[in-house]
Amino acid sequence: MAHCKIQKSKNLRRSGSSNKLKEPPAPIPDNNNDRKRQYKLEDFELMSTVGTGTFGRVVLARDKKNKEYMALKILNITDIIKLKQTEHVLNEKAILSATNHPFIVQLAWSHHTDTFLYMVLEYICGGELFTYLRNMGRFNAATARFFASEITSALEHLHKNDIVYRDLKPENVLLDRDGHIKLTDFGFAKKLRDRTWTLCGTPEYLAPEIIQSKGHGKPVDWWALGILIYEMLVGYPPFYDENPFGIYEKILEGKIDWPKHLTADARDMIKRLLVIDRTKRLGCMLNGCKDITGHRWFMSIDWDQVKQRQLKPPIVPEISHDGDTRNFDDYPNDDWQKGTAVSEEQLKVFKDF
Ligand code: AMP
Repeated sequence: MAHCKIQKSKNLRRSGSSNKLKEPPAPIPDNNNDRKRQYKLEDFELMSTVGTGTFGRVVLARDKKNKEYMALKILNITDIIKLKQTEHVLNEKAILSATNHPFIVQLAWSHHTDTFLYMVLEYICGGELFTYLRNMGRFNAATARFFASEITSALEHLHKNDIVYRDLKPENVLLDRDGHIKLTDFGFAKKLRDRTWTLCGTPEYLAPEIIQSKGHGKPVDWWALGILIYEMLVGYPPFYDENPFGIYEKILEGKIDWPKHLTADARDMIKRLLVIDRTKRLGCMLNGCKDITGHRWFMSIDWDQVKQRQLKPPIVPEISHDGDTRNFDDYPNDDWQKGTAVSEEQLKVFKDF
């Protein structure tokens, strides 16, 4: 096990990661608000920004009453409306409210003013898996297997609840203080009945059926798991190009380079996840997720132990206290608080947020 000190560097970022394709999904009912503590905005002391997105930011905040650190995700309503992300954000909140799993970030409270939407999340102080992967180059098999097993457990839980995540990538996998994972950013997650048709995700991680607009569902997450396992073991994704269209061509062509250090089991696992025909993709056939958990590459894994967070994390983030932000990039404290209020009419759709 390694205590891992990470370098802060913005230029490690994936070039296409700000290039997300977006879709407004349908909202799902949110029945779980009753069990949540009712906070007030004044309960929080805002500390520093730990992440930014297209229309908001995530700020470390301290609960003045119990001194607990939380992550406050703050979204600008004007920007959300402009970028047609309303249904999308409502969906994110509804799915997170209804989800309770050790490997998925927990939503504690949500709130809105006439300018901002707020989501109070548990603060996950270890930072992004992405940062560790770029700093270490690539992971050894045991490290990659640990992360893949916890991610598989989280996806299995979502799929059982008919939720497709649709944005798996190392930037959205956070490490908690012990080194276990938490999936974050449910902006593309969607409650499914069957298949959905709209283009969304991050280019390097898109399944062929998304690019071909064939309608897509849970199989896209298992495709993305194949991409992620490859990226963890090799250090870069299997289909790469300077521009998104080049990436799409390579995905549809399906040609993969296999570095010599990959074992036969790892290669077989990745190959079976990156099957263009989703009816033959691992995780998408009659046995569902069992075909993944039962694959030879996962032979050493005890899945009951995984679910109970009993596997020993291979990377333990370096942290001095719960509110430590050393594992995140530094962000300038600009004038983000000066948003413009929206009209009462525009605010109506957010009344339950
Ligand atoms: P998001 O807009 O949800 O993708 O969040 C942007 C970035 O903020 C993420 O990539 C993380 O680096 C950081 N972040 C999001 N949620 C949390 C959290 N609960 N705890 C700590 N950092 C977070």
